[in-house]
Amino acid sequence: MKSYQIDIRGVVQGVGFRPFVYRLATKLNLKGEVLNNSLGVTIKVNATQKELELFLEKLQKELPPLAKIDSIKSREIEFQEFTNFSIIQTSEQSLKTALLPPDISICRECEAELFDKNNRRYLYPFITCTNCGVRYSIIEKLPYDRINTSMKFFKMCDECQREYNNPLDRRYHAQPIGCWNCGPSVELLINNQEVKIEGLDAIEDAVSLLKSGKIIALKGVGGYHLICDATNEEAIKELRKRKKRAHKPFAIMVKDITMAKELAIISLKEEELLSSKERPIVICKSLLPSNSKIAPNISKIGLFLPYTPLHLLILEKLQKPIVATSANISDEPIAINLESLQKLHNVYDAVLNHNREIVNGCDDSVVMLVQNRVVTLRRARGYTPLSIKLPFKLKEPTLALGANQKSTIAIGFEDNAILSPHIGDLDGINSIEYYKKNIETLQRIYNFEPKRAVCDIHPNYESTKHALEITTQNKNITLNQVQHHHAHILATMVEYKLTGKVFGVAFDGTGAGTDGKLWGGEFLLCDYQSFKRIAHINYFKLLGGERAIKEPKRVALSLLFDTFGKEALSLNIPTIQSFKKKELHILYLAWQKGLNAPLSSSMGRLFDAVASITGVIQELSFEGQSGLLLEELYNPDIDTAYSFKVNNESIAIQTLIQEIIDEPDKTVAVSRFFNTIVNIVASIYQEYSNYPLLLSGGVFQNSVLLNLLLEKFPNAYISNKIPPNDGGITLGQIVSL
Ligand SMILES: [Zn+2]
Ligand SMILES: [Zn+2]
Repeated sequence: MKSYQIDIRGVVQGVGFRPFVYRLATKLNLKGEVLNNSLGVTIKVNATQKELELFLEKLQKELPPLAKIDSIKSREIEFQEFTNFSIIQTSEQSLKTALLPPDISICRECEAELFDKNNRRYLYPFITCTNCGVRYSIIEKLPYDRINTSMKFFKMCDECQREYNNPLDRRYHAQPIGCWNCGPSVELLINNQEVKIEGLDAIEDAVSLLKSGKIIALKGVGGYHLICDATNEEAIKELRKRKKRAHKPFAIMVKDITMAKELAIISLKEEELLSSKERPIVICKSLLPSNSKIAPNISKIGLFLPYTPLHLLILEKLQKPIVATSANISDEPIAINLESLQKLHNVYDAVLNHNREIVNGCDDSVVMLVQNRVVTLRRARGYTPLSIKLPFKLKEPTLALGANQKSTIAIGFEDNAILSPHIGDLDGINSIEYYKKNIETLQRIYNFEPKRAVCDIHPNYESTKHALEITTQNKNITLNQVQHHHAHILATMVEYKLTGKVFGVAFDGTGAGTDGKLWGGEFLLCDYQSFKRIAHINYFKLLGGERAIKEPKRVALSLLFDTFGKEALSLNIPTIQSFKKKELHILYLAWQKGLNAPLSSSMGRLFDAVASITGVIQELSFEGQSGLLLEELYNPDIDTAYSFKVNNESIAIQTLIQEIIDEPDKTVAVSRFFNTIVNIVASIYQEYSNYPLLLSGGVFQNSVLLNLLLEKFPNAYISNKIPPNDGGITLGQIVSL
């Protein structure tokens, strides 16, 4: 018999890990102790070599659902006599570097109790245990103890307290526990809070309102949703009208997998994702008619399952799918309290509210499957805060400030990076305030002081401005600026811990290039220090600057001028027809003189141009719309492609444009366009094929393009945990040297 110390790192605090160790040790008749420390959990145990091995094996095999072990090390220590096995209470000393678990959906045991008439928490909308429920959204700071969360306002009743104190109970140290007697409660607010209904009646009445076609603001985990009956076309039409959201698809929450299968074709892997403890929105193949108001003209549908007891109770009573969209104004942050929700008072008819404060806002996560690989489109609830192990140790604590759209932030220390959830676009004052609040939150939770700040090279990004502000105010913090597409590729390198040189294809909207132009169709040879631009889409002019991003017809027109000169004006194609004659002449002059017409090599804009020329869409009503509509036209039976030329490092696309115009069938034109992009990648990569191929950037949210490229290059790397869009930029910034 010897004494051993076992050190475990990973997500091992606030997830029922110590009681799990306690139960296991007791079962194996081992004596010793377990305690939290700043890096994770330490166990001391008296055992023989054989007993130790069995204990270590079971520790890893029988982990509680929310725990995750990054490393486990054991060593012999000086002999110590233990008389029993005990859990040592965490002292108030700092446990800041321990990893914080995310908000997790309701577990099976709690769900069973929720609908068990004999359980004291029968139908209690906030039932939870150590294996499920809110975490990140309620925490103010580490260590994760009730006193540091918004649950501190609820004093536990005797019964709850007993469960909380019992290491053998599923609710041992489950910080958010409560019951009908002591925990949070729901209320339904109607007529601007004049009428207030409480308890189960609130849920009952909310469901009646939904049945009669009303729109309800529902307080969930990380913010409010706007919900309505997804089978009621009139209700959805009304929601679109009130929210001023004409076409952008709505996500649908379904009661269970059976209901999901009535709306979409769902693969086994998609079913797993839908029912996973993170419960993201999963983009599936829709079974709805193309004129459905849920996602007009798009054959995909975003589905998710109820992730809290409250959602379960609503859907159980309604027995119908609901539209569930974040309650926010266009790209502003999600509303997290009645005050911020107030701005939407014209949109909802009633509020189903509760009194557990949301400390940290957090949207729903969105994922899709391409070639059976999970692609994260928005990383938030369930996955966040995400910690990623870096391939090397950082020299100093680093704060990464991200880009401007789909912004996130990240902090990095030693070989850890911790990423915030999706914050949103930094276009308005409210968004910028929310962004700064997120920085404070992450710094506060982890007691983090940066020595280095990293941002984009774009001077007008709000994130860049903020980085400059921080570093001017605090001379001890150095500033590092990273080119946008380099950061995209670096982020993917980190995920796979690649350390050598890589060949990166960065296709996205627009990002500032080192030559002052707007890049976005880039082929880069990269490592952590630097990159070499191997090739890019030939520059074209974005007529009207920012306006060209929302109006594909302007990009198309510019490419038409590049190809045909003034002759373009007499072409009989949808792009030209979509302009007034006078506009065309003004824009021709602007093109000729380069007035308000920045040069760009963006692949995203090239997709827009093709959508305009083929008459698919001229003006966007939401970001990414043209790509989604082009996907609809792709026909895999068409395997031909258009021609392109590479001159030095620039990929000429005039012949491509010419050939698309000459093609009368838009299905053929669009399919060949997709195939051409694949050929371009293949042709440029050919010479560099001894380097790993990495694909990153917002254009890779296009599942048709991504699918074609992964078919051709099955070994290509594509981000899995972080989004390929600008939401992943911070991870790349953290590791730039
Ligand atoms: Zn539970
Ligand atoms: Zn209670």
